[in-house]
Amino acid sequence: MLPKHITLPFTTDVIFKLDNNKGSFTTDSQIFMEMIGFATDDFNIDRFTNVLTHELHHIYYGYWFANQLPSKNMSDKEEALFNYMRPLIFEGIADQFTYKDYSEEVKLLYNDRLLIEELFTSMTTSVRKIANSNESLKIYEEENNKIWDSRMFYLKKYLPDGYEESTFNYAPTLVYYLGYHLYNSILQKGGKARLDFVLENFDCLLEEYNKIYSTDLLIPKIPDDIVKLWKESFKNTTSN
Ligand SMILES: [Zn+2]
Repeated sequence: MLPKHITLPFTTDVIFKLDNNKGSFTTDSQIFMEMIGFATDDFNIDRFTNVLTHELHHIYYGYWFANQLPSKNMSDKEEALFNYMRPLIFEGIADQFTYKDYSEEVKLLYNDRLLIEELFTSMTTSVRKIANSNESLKIYEEENNKIWDSRMFYLKKYLPDGYEESTFNYAPTLVYYLGYHLYNSILQKGGKARLDFVLENFDCLLEEYNKIYSTDLLIPKIPDDIVKLWKESFKNTTSN
């Protein structure tokens, strides 16, 4: 799930923590692994490996990705769109490693067609809002906060009879849910070759999704204006 021949010019530290704060996450070169949830009698080495792989992917792909971007300065609008959409790429790919370990309840949410359509509408609405604003960085902040603030709303709406406590950590966000499906659908319908292509040509992700699109997929066909904004925001040196 990585472009070929990536070598890091630094070593990656893994820091194990037990503070149950923010889960596992990375900086440019460090991984913070949350061990609460693993430090139990039935320590699951496969699940642990998959979470570590997810986080390692952020570091390797993040290093490679940063080197593909043109060095010119971005306008506020370009930066705002880039910041809004970039997490879908990173979490979408890395989630391919961790999805299989999610609970049945979380998988039910991931595969709820109405939920995915609602998240998709929310994404396209936000992207257009940012693109059409004269204060795009401010609008980006607001739209980005909405993603994280609406997690509880979606949980209650799509699991009205209650949910397991652990499900909150995987509550619906367009970043993880749409990101996961974009890459997974391309892998399922287009195979490994097409997936490899979008890993290296991240600016083509949405147009490649539309090429393999069929009505059984949960994410709707992506409108042309969104495909164009995506492509412009992620112009990369590999594709040019
Ligand atoms: Zn992640």
